[in-house]
Amino acid sequence: MPLNVAIAGASGRMGRTLIEAVLRGEDMKLAAALDIAGNPHLGKDAGELVGAACGVKITDDIERALNGSDVLIDFTRPDGTLRHVALCRKLGVRPVIGTTGFDDAGKTAISDAAKNIAIAMAPNFSVGVNVTFKLLETAAKSLGKGYDIEIIEAHHRLKIDAPSGTALRMGEVVAQATGRDLKQCAIYGREGVTGERKDDTIAFSTIRGGDLVGDHTVMFIGMGERLEITHRSSSRMNYATGALRAAQWVMGKPRGLYDMFDVLGFR
Ligand code: NAP
Repeated sequence: MPLNVAIAGASGRMGRTLIEAVLRGEDMKLAAALDIAGNPHLGKDAGELVGAACGVKITDDIERALNGSDVLIDFTRPDGTLRHVALCRKLGVRPVIGTTGFDDAGKTAISDAAKNIAIAMAPNFSVGVNVTFKLLETAAKSLGKGYDIEIIEAHHRLKIDAPSGTALRMGEVVAQATGRDLKQCAIYGREGVTGERKDDTIAFSTIRGGDLVGDHTVMFIGMGERLEITHRSSSRMNYATGALRAAQWVMGKPRGLYDMFDVLGFR
């Protein structure tokens, strides 16, 4: 049986890439394409967004769209995703959540929904980025104290949240690996007379411009040496491919909240 995939935010940048990936994919079918009320693409054939009609019309009737879907891949905005997740919980559909920028209440609502359904969620579905998380964990543990950690990320000029969810996750990974709490030690940008760098802080810098898909560098800066781990995305297709891998994987799982470390077998 092919996997029946619904895609939220169908006409968005990630939505279009996901439609292309599903239409090209094996053992999967585009079951539904969603967008919000007022979106100019409602009623159009989803396939036309990527060059070839496929017979699935873009709709804002979420409940009807989810009936008949196995998974909902959602790269939209936090408020929309939370509404979709509540419906997925009611209907037993498995969400694959790529949306970033959730506040603590939003994250709690998702964890709560995972008491009833299996959810895959990642701030970055790229397989390469998740391998980078693993490398960061190893580097941070092995280097130990004595290295200042700086995280730099660069994205396109239309991105509306900062630092990126991926940069924050990188911060969490290195903080956890070195026994720190990111909430206590993060520094977001610097200005004016900042004083000397404090030990144990983890600092973030953000660059926004043009059509940059997404670059992340973590620097471990010691006395006499610097280690840099960098990942660069050149196309959104790597996120879509990872999200589809997560969608196939999560179908075989019991209720719970999973991430790409689970999907890739890193736990
Ligand atoms: P985008 O181009 O702005 O697309 C967002 C789509 O969601 C649009 O179709 C938009 O419709 C729709 N939307 C907006 N608000 C909504 C709501 N409240 N309910 C339902 N749908 C809504 O954005 P994008 O670049 O594709 O990114 C979307 C999200 O994915 C962002 O949070 C981004 O950070 C994240 N992202 C994650 C990964 C990952 O691997 N996890 C990778 C890339 C991006 P309108 O155009 O009508 O507003």
